[in-house]
Amino acid sequence: MPMKVTATHRQMAKRIAGSYTSIAANSMGVPVFNRRTFLKTSAAALPLTALHALNPASTLAEEHAAAAVASGPAPKLVPLPPRLAPIDSLHRPWQQKIRRVGQSNMTEHDPAVMNVEEWADYWHAANADIVFISVTGILAFYPSKVPFHRHGKYLQGRDFFGECVGAAKKRNMRVVARMSPDLNWGDALAAHPEWAMRHRDGSVQFSDQDPRLFQTCMFTSYMDDYIPAIMREVNSLYDVDCFYTNGWPPIGELPDCHCAICNKLPPANTPAYWAVFNDRVFQLWQKYDAIAKEKKPDGFFFANLGGNVRCGPNMNRLGKLAAWFQADNQGRTYNDSAVWGCTLQGRACNAVLDGKFAANVTGAYSTGAVTWRNGSKTPAEAIMWLNETLAGGMVPYYHFVGSEDGLGEDRRWQAVGADYFRWTAQHDAHLTTRRSIANIGVVMGQSTQLLYPGPATARSHAYMHETTQGLYNALLQGRFAFDFVHEDRLEPEHLSKYRALILPNVAMLSDQQCQQIRDYVYSGGSIMASFETSLYDENLNPRADFGLADLLGIHKSGEVVGTNGNAYYARIEDPNANGQHPLLHGFTNTNWLPGAQNRIPLKPVPNPLLTVVPGFVSYPPELAYPPVSHTNEPAVVLREVGSSRIAYFPGDIERTYWLTGHGDLLRLLVNTIQWITADQQIVHIQGEGFIEAIAWETTPGYAIHVLNYTNPNAQHCWLQETFPIGPQTVRMQLPQRVGVKSVELLKAGRAVPFHLDGGALQFIIPSIADYEVAAITVA
Ligand SMILES: [Zn+2]
Repeated sequence: MPMKVTATHRQMAKRIAGSYTSIAANSMGVPVFNRRTFLKTSAAALPLTALHALNPASTLAEEHAAAAVASGPAPKLVPLPPRLAPIDSLHRPWQQKIRRVGQSNMTEHDPAVMNVEEWADYWHAANADIVFISVTGILAFYPSKVPFHRHGKYLQGRDFFGECVGAAKKRNMRVVARMSPDLNWGDALAAHPEWAMRHRDGSVQFSDQDPRLFQTCMFTSYMDDYIPAIMREVNSLYDVDCFYTNGWPPIGELPDCHCAICNKLPPANTPAYWAVFNDRVFQLWQKYDAIAKEKKPDGFFFANLGGNVRCGPNMNRLGKLAAWFQADNQGRTYNDSAVWGCTLQGRACNAVLDGKFAANVTGAYSTGAVTWRNGSKTPAEAIMWLNETLAGGMVPYYHFVGSEDGLGEDRRWQAVGADYFRWTAQHDAHLTTRRSIANIGVVMGQSTQLLYPGPATARSHAYMHETTQGLYNALLQGRFAFDFVHEDRLEPEHLSKYRALILPNVAMLSDQQCQQIRDYVYSGGSIMASFETSLYDENLNPRADFGLADLLGIHKSGEVVGTNGNAYYARIEDPNANGQHPLLHGFTNTNWLPGAQNRIPLKPVPNPLLTVVPGFVSYPPELAYPPVSHTNEPAVVLREVGSSRIAYFPGDIERTYWLTGHGDLLRLLVNTIQWITADQQIVHIQGEGFIEAIAWETTPGYAIHVLNYTNPNAQHCWLQETFPIGPQTVRMQLPQRVGVKSVELLKAGRAVPFHLDGGALQFIIPSIADYEVAAITVA
């Protein structure tokens, strides 16, 4: 049951969300409804900030005036596309029907301490459809005869793997045979020195944590011979449904090996290396997949993935190949401290999978910079990660390591996962997603994320990560419905659903990709781009000028300028026009705004809205004034071409927002996104609080997932408890001739009234604790 919303909670919600939510809600709100009627019928249920949202300058006393202002000409909502054809269940691959995945990750000691029946009973009672069981490759969990497949010291000739497979199958759970090809022991190294990854000096790369283990190189016969031998042995002995490799391919970064084979490859972390890395990943993946199918035609191989937009292998190629996208993205770390890390992964998967299967692992144990792999995580944090998995369109996968003392010395994780799984099992139809209904696309420059180092002026190892997080945060604060779009999927069939594309410093773009973006804009789409977007080709060769110079209406006039002291400012060229241009809505009493940490100097453009005041000294304060207080260097460039709107920021504005949290940068980003999209929202949710919302088409209708991040730990540490938020008014425009049977709140466990008028659906979610799913069943 939701907690009672106290004044303290509400004040905290406002503090955390900032005053920005109301501004964002305002200019997106109530587009198709008669606002006067809406106010009359539901004002009592609306919180103060929502009333303010109708006019940011209003007070409660000005409510009537606000209502009158708000009932002017309404912008047009973009309708949803026609509904997809029903799914052919008969011919659907079995893995696409999996809804819950369980794993007790087995240790060498488990054959001595784990009760196999108790283990199988736990996952069966939790409604798991499939369980991971360790074959491994580092240690055999069955009496393997493959040379160098060392038996665990507690195995003692027992067929532990076989017993687990039998116990799972007896309970109608499917089985993933889990392998680990990344490490092996000294005897293997002595016999096959060529299997090891090597440092630049030729020395062997050993495990950081247990130097008895060496790291295997993916370009060697270890992967061509040793792993296939294990797969074929398992196939000959057991009834498994599919094979999986943990620890390969690497997540979020590329290998750096100097073995005899790798020394002949292009240098690590270059576009040329990425190409041969991808070829090798796909060669091995296909080889293993063929072996998996030798016994069962509907079997398959899949591998460890994750890293969201920084995935190691090319996600577009992988999306075509992978029967199962395994997102090994188990929880927050200090390197990735925002609560939305799991939904970000889901959006990355959705960009390439075309509705195919993805599961995201929730570590029930203590993930983070300091880990306790055999101790339970705080429940609120584990549950939010599971919520995000569902909201992100992925299948929840719950994972704990080791079964010391039976099912674990620490058994607190068990009820958390089992209860959650049992709740999802009541709602599989609504929780199974078909396609996102967002109409903003964020171009996911995977090669830029992996290979572009950021400008020399920035000195950040996580430059693109910070860029992504800044934009992601701004999109959440503005409550925009958005997808990620992979850089290799810019064809019209993938872009036509989007009103606008956002290019957050997508530095590397080929000539062809630039042309695809041009075509998109000339067919009516809008774009927002920033900083070094299109300044490099697909091989990271710098261009003399932007690849999109013509489209963006800009020309580079110098190299990147960083910050030493005061960062640059963006001067409002005509302060008297404050509030006139939509980009400047909400800015008053100032002639300038913060710029960004780094910028590309541009040649002048006609009638710039904002111009650069170059950065200057911040200390000593005696010198903290601008030697040059006015220039003709643009700080934003805006264009309109037909119905397309184009906005370009020469600064790294998204990343600077992430580093500073400056509300002006957030406001500028949200105003700009509203301007380029002409405020056309398919789904809009109005209310107070900091949320992430993702809307999906489902088989019964639509599902709108709302995650409540209104929490002091949304951007650091773990959630400790939940701070409920009040009413959220949901509006969406349904396709023509689609009726609505019911709107059900799956967490609250009840239906809510709704209003449908000319395809415009409206309903109110009265309150949200940590998560709600509004399941719309269409007629
Ligand atoms: Zn190598």
